[in-house]
Amino acid sequence: MSNKYVDLHIHTRCSDGTSTPEEIPILASQAGLEAVAITDHDAVDGIERAIAGNTCNGLEIIPGVELSTTVGDADIHILGYYIDWRDRTLLEWIALFREKRLERARKIVEKLRTLGLDLRFDTVLEVADGAAIGRPHIADALVKEELIRFYGEAFSRYIGYDGPAYFPKYAISPAEAIRLIRRAGGIPVLAHPGSVHRDECIPAMVRDGLMGIEVFHPMHPSVVRQYYEKLAIKHGILRTGGSDYHGEGRGRAQIGCECVPGWMAEDLRDKKKQVSGE
Ligand code: AMP
Ligand code: ZN
Ligand code: FE
Ligand code: FE
Repeated sequence: MSNKYVDLHIHTRCSDGTSTPEEIPILASQAGLEAVAITDHDAVDGIERAIAGNTCNGLEIIPGVELSTTVGDADIHILGYYIDWRDRTLLEWIALFREKRLERARKIVEKLRTLGLDLRFDTVLEVADGAAIGRPHIADALVKEELIRFYGEAFSRYIGYDGPAYFPKYAISPAEAIRLIRRAGGIPVLAHPGSVHRDECIPAMVRDGLMGIEVFHPMHPSVVRQYYEKLAIKHGILRTGGSDYHGEGRGRAQIGCECVPGWMAEDLRDKKKQVSGE
């Protein structure tokens, strides 16, 4: 068994991160990791770029994605590991999610404008530069236009979940996301449940085919981590973890900061072999 660390939750500029996919292997090898997963929100175009940019011996780039789902007003994220990122159905859904994200960003900008902030939608598009648009791009655009003083102010005053300019995303149900990931050959894992507070949904997700729970995450203090560790064992599903790195200007999480043990990636790899019938 490996005694090295991995990081199974990383965002790039293809969604709302600030590092390019090509920079991820460099940062990962500097951190001494043996595997990293690219898990952009509703985007898979960073995977191939990260793999192509990986010149580091002994570093594996795991293809992944993070899909948004809703149960009531809760925003539940499902990670998908070892997905086939060229799968036609997956790509069609991703195209739809991106289209809906664009419409939603427009609605958020309209709300901000009614609140007196003179934000141009074009600035948001410029900042996003073709990525799957999320609230962080709107926050960046507000800073760029000098309508707020710092990035976090956008969330605390306007676009946080309880903010006056918040608008929910179009999202499918957890069962649909799990099915979509499995159809694309992936391993569906519940992301950062400690920040969602909807544990009552977990048994149904497991029945619907969920194969793991993210236990190591910056939003999980050690008691929370231990709690989800036990819950995953109870349900007989995998444990994973990652930094949820979004890059400079996006909080303190750095690649590798969660010290996720290498066996978590090995377990994912074994599960992938099992589901592909190898
Ligand atoms: P979205 O997918 O557009 O709803 O945006 C979600 C992303 O916004 C998360 O992945 C975080 O990167 C970021 N985010 C959400 N809430 C906050 C917050 N309170 N402060 C800073 N960033 C946040
Ligand atoms: Zn994000
Ligand atoms: Fe997430
Ligand atoms: Fe994430």
